[in-house]
Amino acid sequence: MGHKILLVEDEHLVGTMVRLNMESEGHEVTWCRTAPAALEEATGQPFDLVLLDIGLPGGDGLAVLSEMRKRGIGTPVMMLTARGDVASKVQALDIGADDYLGKPFDVAELIARAGALIRRSRADREVPADQVVRFDAYEVNLATREAVTSQGRVTLSEKEAAFLAMLVRARGATLTRNDILEEVWGMDVTPTQRTVDNVVLRLRKLFEPNPDEPVHILTVRGAGYRFEP
Ligand code: CA
Repeated sequence: MGHKILLVEDEHLVGTMVRLNMESEGHEVTWCRTAPAALEEATGQPFDLVLLDIGLPGGDGLAVLSEMRKRGIGTPVMMLTARGDVASKVQALDIGADDYLGKPFDVAELIARAGALIRRSRADREVPADQVVRFDAYEVNLATREAVTSQGRVTLSEKEAAFLAMLVRARGATLTRNDILEEVWGMDVTPTQRTVDNVVLRLRKLFEPNPDEPVHILTVRGAGYRFEP
């Protein structure tokens, strides 16, 4: 089965070569060329693996990685870099890289190591069946975050999955935006109540037959949200 890979690389030849090879392995590749674009992609949607260059326009791959980890994004990351020196390798591993490949690298080695990282991360996420929530025509595995939705099979972001889990557990009871912010976002970022509303919009697109007239994820006017199976 193909996986979603975020490729962050500003060198055209290297990026093209990696993308072609990953696509020929059946993976779906999103390619960013700058640090800000990488951070936006990495925090915006779930990936199975990030291939991350260090020297980038608009920032540094190490800073992108550090910010991802700070925001609680645990996607496996392999650094791809010309800086073969031990110091940057140690620094990358220190701030949460899972693997490190110096350029120039052998494509077969890249493919093998990328596959190993994805498999390891999948195995970590394997879960008991009671983590699977079903309602209406939908299904969500709260641990792998894989879901059957109105838009087909989707991997939810960590926040989307945590939010949905909270709604489902509270079943019928109203959750205030503050309850949700506290449990789902915790202390790690500075979201606003608007952040909650945006995730609700996204969840309704995925888990409502008609997102404009929700029957599962209901707004309780002036209070918050509640879930009806
Ligand atoms: Ca570069």
